[in-house]
Amino acid sequence: MRAAVLRDWRAPLDLTTLADPEPPAGGVVLRVLACGVCRSDWHAWTGADSDVALPHVPGHEYCGEVVAVGAGVTRWRVGDRVIAPFILACGSCPDCAAGNQTICADQVVPGFTTPGAFAEMIAVHHADSNLTALPEEMAPEVAAALGCRVTTAWHALTGRAQLRGGEWLAVIGGGGIGVSAMLLGKALGARVVVVDVAPDKLEFARGLGADAVVDASQGDAAEAIRDLTGGGADVAVEALGIEATTVTALSCLRKLGRMVQVGMPAGDHATMAIPMDRVYSGQLAVFGTRGMPSWRYPSLLSLLSAANLDLSPLVTRTIGLSQATEELAAFDRPAPPGVAVITDFLN
Ligand SMILES: [Zn+2]
Ligand SMILES: [Zn+2]
Repeated sequence: MRAAVLRDWRAPLDLTTLADPEPPAGGVVLRVLACGVCRSDWHAWTGADSDVALPHVPGHEYCGEVVAVGAGVTRWRVGDRVIAPFILACGSCPDCAAGNQTICADQVVPGFTTPGAFAEMIAVHHADSNLTALPEEMAPEVAAALGCRVTTAWHALTGRAQLRGGEWLAVIGGGGIGVSAMLLGKALGARVVVVDVAPDKLEFARGLGADAVVDASQGDAAEAIRDLTGGGADVAVEALGIEATTVTALSCLRKLGRMVQVGMPAGDHATMAIPMDRVYSGQLAVFGTRGMPSWRYPSLLSLLSAANLDLSPLVTRTIGLSQATEELAAFDRPAPPGVAVITDFLN
């Protein structure tokens, strides 16, 4: 199969031919229909993610069609089209049994701990516990985002911060996950303000329904949010994993506000100086989050359907595998609005 291989940190991905994967016991092999290029792939590409060993095939935000089924799989057969969460939990440990698949100690994470989906095919472990049928009406390039960005945003808002209709949600960072959180927040009945430093991303967020936008390059974004929300946001989502934006996310909250750290703090941002006096005096809650337990797919798909929420505007670029390097490098600076999704694995 054709695949893109990372052989050195920050090097252009090597487009090459690898042996087709075999289905693991309890797993399947998918022909990849679409795979998004996500900020976490950029962390892997730069060497900031300690889970990644070279050589490596990136790509964790994918959907595909089952082409081979391993021993013991009962729910899936060849020809099924499926969505996979980026965390493939074991499905049988005490944490999985309790519904907390995102903290499963035996999780497999393609694109980080095993070969990912920047390839024509991918081996997917623990298929029965993790996969969800791809809704017929959903295009693969849209469904791919249900492997990472949209699901992570959904769990941050509803599984962690318990966002309620009528509340103010501040989204710090207008990239793929930020815009996903904005769209879901709106569908849940919240009012949403999006913060970024790139005017084109603010324009993009406003075009997709943000109630307000704040350009953080023009002054104190937290103060601007406190002003326009009449005292502060109820919930803030930090979607970049950098110190300045985490400080903004905490500082923009009203008392008893909830902040969710969605962006992965890596490299120079692994340790941050944050205003704990605000956490204390504002009696704030701070949540970390990573991914979404697969049992929550039905609630997400139900909301998308009930709210008639079209996620397709999120995908601004469908690309070939050979363009993946360019998209990874784009995360070095404010990337263009929307997300890039690989749909052509032969070019
Ligand atoms: Zn991701
Ligand atoms: Zn488990």
